[in-house]
Amino acid sequence: MQSFKDFDLNPNIQKALEAIGFETPTPVQVQSLTHLLDEPQDMIALAQTGTGKTAAFSLPILHHCEPNSKKPQALILSPTRELCIQIGNDIDKFTKYAKGIDQLSVYGGTAITNQIKALRNKPQIIVGTPGRTLDLIKRKKLDVSEVQWLVLDEADEMLSMGFQDDLNEILETTPKHKKTLLFSATLAGPIKKIADNYLSNPVEVTIGRKNVSAENVDHSYYVVHYRDRYDALKRIVDMNPAVYGIVFCRTRAETKDIAAKLTEDGYNSDALHGDLSQAQRDYVMQKFRKRQLRLLVATDVAARGLDVNDLTHVINYKLPDDREVYVHRSGRTGRAGKSGSSIAILERRDLSRVRGFEKMIGKDFVKKELPSGTEICEKQLFNYIDKVVNTEVNEAEIKQFLPAIEEKLSELSQEDVLKRFVSIEFNRFLDYYKGARDINDRSNPKDRKDKKGRKDDDRGDRRSKRGDSDVDFTRFFINLGKLHKINPKSLLDLINDTLPQKGVEIGEIELLKGFSFFELDRKFEDAALKAFAKCTYKGLKVRIEVAQPKSKSSGGGGRGRGDKKGGKGGRGKKRHKGGRGKRNNW
Ligand code: AMP
Repeated sequence: MQSFKDFDLNPNIQKALEAIGFETPTPVQVQSLTHLLDEPQDMIALAQTGTGKTAAFSLPILHHCEPNSKKPQALILSPTRELCIQIGNDIDKFTKYAKGIDQLSVYGGTAITNQIKALRNKPQIIVGTPGRTLDLIKRKKLDVSEVQWLVLDEADEMLSMGFQDDLNEILETTPKHKKTLLFSATLAGPIKKIADNYLSNPVEVTIGRKNVSAENVDHSYYVVHYRDRYDALKRIVDMNPAVYGIVFCRTRAETKDIAAKLTEDGYNSDALHGDLSQAQRDYVMQKFRKRQLRLLVATDVAARGLDVNDLTHVINYKLPDDREVYVHRSGRTGRAGKSGSSIAILERRDLSRVRGFEKMIGKDFVKKELPSGTEICEKQLFNYIDKVVNTEVNEAEIKQFLPAIEEKLSELSQEDVLKRFVSIEFNRFLDYYKGARDINDRSNPKDRKDKKGRKDDDRGDRRSKRGDSDVDFTRFFINLGKLHKINPKSLLDLINDTLPQKGVEIGEIELLKGFSFFELDRKFEDAALKAFAKCTYKGLKVRIEVAQPKSKSSGGGGRGRGDKKGGKGGRGKKRHKGGRGKRNNW
């Protein structure tokens, strides 16, 4: 096994790799470091997300990067805003100790003016979606005439999203002598044409599909409002009477909460999380292995040591941030030749992430509708009847009691006996689902219809938008604004980096000149105040305070509003003054 130390990589990059815990290069990284470090050349890599391809193309580029250059040296094109941000974040980590090397991610769905301003800082590496990159080139704000490297990341995806013409136009403005690295899942049709036209004598490497989901696991999701997540879980479980599975939550608190509710509602379930002692963990795992528990509610970390082969379902109460974690979760079902289902409970805002997960596992997710109360009752009823039909009767033992039983039931008709007999089990469901409402979130039916062909501008990261979410948000004032070169992405990054909790819902962001506002899931209000008490940004002590919620009459704008010129500074200030220091009582 090779180590990064076996390669003659710039020591500052080596140091950063050590800091983030990368020791052994993945196969595609071995290939890229072997072929691109000493004598850079064009390369075609058939590699999927999850194989470590980001570091594979970034590390050699960073190694050769010249900090003093005034023009971009590398252009990395990637199909979606989400991927651009991800690549940009990875490069930031790799260059932690490489002074003077900067990247800028440019993508649609956010103000181009901020990106134009940021380009004045002369970043050496540009990570962009084709649409926004071409826009910047055409406006003569981005000059790629001297790039040494061009990366086409997920080239197949860029073509299938309709970026062929944009790519051709961009490629025409780059110099002939640059090295081109093409990463794609296939080398079919149009990709081959691009490779033939724009790459010269490329070395070709193929990396196996590491994250492909097991053939016999199907992946599906349901879309509900935040408030209906738990009810959705119950309906999923009730619709699958033979369920034997793990419900994955993101935090210990959530794990405990869901397990407690399930137990209270009569399900055979328990929680597995990091607050349990080893003895408690062993006990829970043993009960689960013996099938005394049908549902185990667990965090990813706590479920690591659990090896159970015949799970029918994995339920993602919330999707993980990391796609690899999803692969790991879903791989717990469909083992040993059995089929399995991986189900995700989503809110509308999560939909933009589904495509990434699909790519990672190499399979489509199927959108499903949560069943109605009647459908569940019917399912449960017939499940019960099946059980009755399949129950083995101990003739010898029962025989002696039969006359007494017949005597007792003689007053009732056969139909009455049947009805009462079924009702013993069934009343619980009838009662619970009586008049149950439709909890599918139908507010945006076109959400998943544009899977193919949509452009990055339509596929933005929706985390910072309020949408129709039912999350209660607290609005915070923060003493950072555009003057401090903060933009929506850097503010999102700052929030995510500062909060110890992962996946906290972020609502509206409003950027003003000297300060800004952002919204966080109200549950994390105290955690945010505590975490930000120790936070600095570019040497400045960061201060946040709970602000008054934005009044409806002031307009519903999101972060886009804050990017427009005029007026808002005053409006923001006024609101800020009114709200500073006050606790939020909404
Ligand atoms: P990518 O295919 O670039 O999206 O990478 C997939 C995941 O693997 C990311 O979470 C990376 O942080 C991680 N990763 C990439 N290279 C390595 C490495 N050499 N060692 C450990 N983790 C890695």
